[in-house]
Amino acid sequence: MKLYSTNTPGVTVDFKEAVFNSMPQDKGLYMPVGIPVLDRDFIENIEMYSLSEIAFKVADSILQGAIPKNELKAIIEDAINFPAPVIKLDDRTYVLELFHGPSLAFKDFGARFMSRVMSYFMTEGEKTLNVLVATSGDTGGAVALGFLGVPNTQVTILYPKGKVSAIQELQLTTNGQNIRAVEVNGTFDDCQALVKQAFTDKELNEKFRLTSANSINIARLIPQTFYYFNAYAQLKRAGKTEVVFSVPSGNFGNIGAGLLAWKMGLPVKQFIAATNVNDTVPAFFRSGLYEPKPSVATLSNAMDVGNPSNWVRIMNLFNNDLDELRKIVSTGSYTDIQTGEAVQTIFDEYDYVVCPHTAIAWAAINDYRKSSGDDNSTAVFLSTAHPCKFPDVYEGEMAGKITIPEQVKTLLGKPKQSVELGVDFAGFKEYLMGSEL
Ligand SMILES: *Cc1c(COP(=O)(O)O)cnc(C)c1O
Repeated sequence: MKLYSTNTPGVTVDFKEAVFNSMPQDKGLYMPVGIPVLDRDFIENIEMYSLSEIAFKVADSILQGAIPKNELKAIIEDAINFPAPVIKLDDRTYVLELFHGPSLAFKDFGARFMSRVMSYFMTEGEKTLNVLVATSGDTGGAVALGFLGVPNTQVTILYPKGKVSAIQELQLTTNGQNIRAVEVNGTFDDCQALVKQAFTDKELNEKFRLTSANSINIARLIPQTFYYFNAYAQLKRAGKTEVVFSVPSGNFGNIGAGLLAWKMGLPVKQFIAATNVNDTVPAFFRSGLYEPKPSVATLSNAMDVGNPSNWVRIMNLFNNDLDELRKIVSTGSYTDIQTGEAVQTIFDEYDYVVCPHTAIAWAAINDYRKSSGDDNSTAVFLSTAHPCKFPDVYEGEMAGKITIPEQVKTLLGKPKQSVELGVDFAGFKEYLMGSEL
């Protein structure tokens, strides 16, 4: 497999290098050279395959031998060891539950696959791998739990102080072992900026073997394509083949993976990119002007992103042609009030509790149906996290309906371990340089 940087398309690297470097020196993003299209026979009979069979087929096509088949199969079996069911709410509305992994969020797909791929590529006696990751909440938990105990790795997680939920904070700060948490007095964008700057800092790169676990890593993007194919397989079994996916979006990795799946031949009628008021992308669709802005705190905090880091990849997939993109993607953005109303309506109509991110994707389906006149397609909204991660959102009957999964029960009562830092790079660098890893 060869990958190029979106900033320098002429220069290519192999998969291993893209996985460990995460971001090219020119600050572009890695993209696969030539996206494979899966054979028609496979797509037409996809309902006959299991999630892990589908995952293997898709990964093997993209990786093109970068990991031998048997090893790839083992990585997939180990990483994707939880289901991704599509649940029917009504005849034309389904929800794809992506929260059955250890951190209760869809990011488990990416983080678990990536950690195992990195581990596979590391040879004995190599320098410890230092994973730096900025999180607005869910990435950190998935990465921490994905790397916990993986030999020869040290993970540093940066999260915005006071801006993650209690359960998220437990997932970030109670692990010990090879995982440590840094509480940053700032926003997620500040955390992300610190990590990005660390990757371009000469001294840090000389001392440490730095790598990113953020959604910019190509090894996180690839496994996120699996569940789109697998959702389609489930729907096909139910006799549904005209499918619209609505994706709650922040850094646009999730929907980016969906679009990659589509490019690989997955039949999708439309994607909906649903955001909270951090609407850089919906505004771009309206005005044609791409104007990143500082993020605003919302109920759906994992989507509080003012400058989505995967957007470049999506533009790249569409040769920077907004009109082409508009044919397959529509957008919608929602306030906290609308989010709360959607959570309530879904509960009232379906007796089903969703997290605030998920609610936004559902709300966007309604608007899509109205504005497009497409009433018949089967609309699937991606449920990106378990509602118990956001307890402040629910009251009364709804709160009572949320069950706490085993993964969370084991964290309660464990002591918090974290270091508090400001937003200036010098302080962060000093902290990293001072640590013996
Ligand atoms: C990360 C996250 C999102 C946003 O996903 P992107 O790939 O960054 O667009 C949405 N919902 C939840 C619960 C998340 O954790």
